[in-house]
Amino acid sequence: MSSQIYYKTNEEVELIRYSCQLVGKTHATVAAILKEGVQTKTLDKVAEEFIRDHKAIPSFKNYNGFPASLCISINEEVVHGIPGDYAIKNGDIVSIDCGVYANGFHGDSAYTYCVGETKPEYLKLLSVTKQSLYKGIEQAVAGKRIGDIGFAIQQYCEKNGFSVVRELVGHGVGRSLHEDPVVANHGQRGKGPKLLEGLVIAIEPMINLGKKTILKKEDQWTIVTSDGKPSAHFEHTIVVRKKQADILSTFAFIEEAVKNNPALTPIE
Ligand code: MG
Ligand code: MG
Repeated sequence: MSSQIYYKTNEEVELIRYSCQLVGKTHATVAAILKEGVQTKTLDKVAEEFIRDHKAIPSFKNYNGFPASLCISINEEVVHGIPGDYAIKNGDIVSIDCGVYANGFHGDSAYTYCVGETKPEYLKLLSVTKQSLYKGIEQAVAGKRIGDIGFAIQQYCEKNGFSVVRELVGHGVGRSLHEDPVVANHGQRGKGPKLLEGLVIAIEPMINLGKKTILKKEDQWTIVTSDGKPSAHFEHTIVVRKKQADILSTFAFIEEAVKNNPALTPIE
């Protein structure tokens, strides 16, 4: 398979930022109503309506046949959970991934929530996963290599006693939802393609409380941990710059919604 990395112009970066900001606002709309008892298909409906009301298209809907606008993955589900009749329970760990397509470009971001009372070790899993995302982003500067990102994420998560899913990875973002290069959440320092200015990538650690191994459910979409223990997922779309990556997506709207929703615990 040939590899083609597209570096974005500043104009293209701004269009991606627009899609990413809309993703953040969609997440916040969902976070505002996330609580015990709500069905995941309701969250998906609210997200799709919000995206379409903003004259944009949900990136995931019909992507390789995926039937919804959000991926909603509960507890041991790692990613690609399909929204449906399931009603959120007290103590659930809820990972939500959202993509938006507008003006010819995609945006992609994910966040994980604790609903209701939760165990301290689950909260720590979410916090470490979120912080590992920023450890990865710190490495996403011109002159470094893709392996530096995965190395930083892996070191931080393993040091905290958690494990990194190997089979699922971040990716380039642009006119296609998934572009080259592959952005693994584990790796070796100084290895892989060199990072150049204008490279837009989604960095998305998927971190397990227990073992790193995963399985696919019978629905052929949902990925679960093989040991049944919880998993967390945080994702930003960023552009590589000289001194510091520019984060194109945002958690600001989400975290405002979390603060105002008594069912949710803020994640440090
Ligand atoms: Mg995503
Ligand atoms: Mg992604």
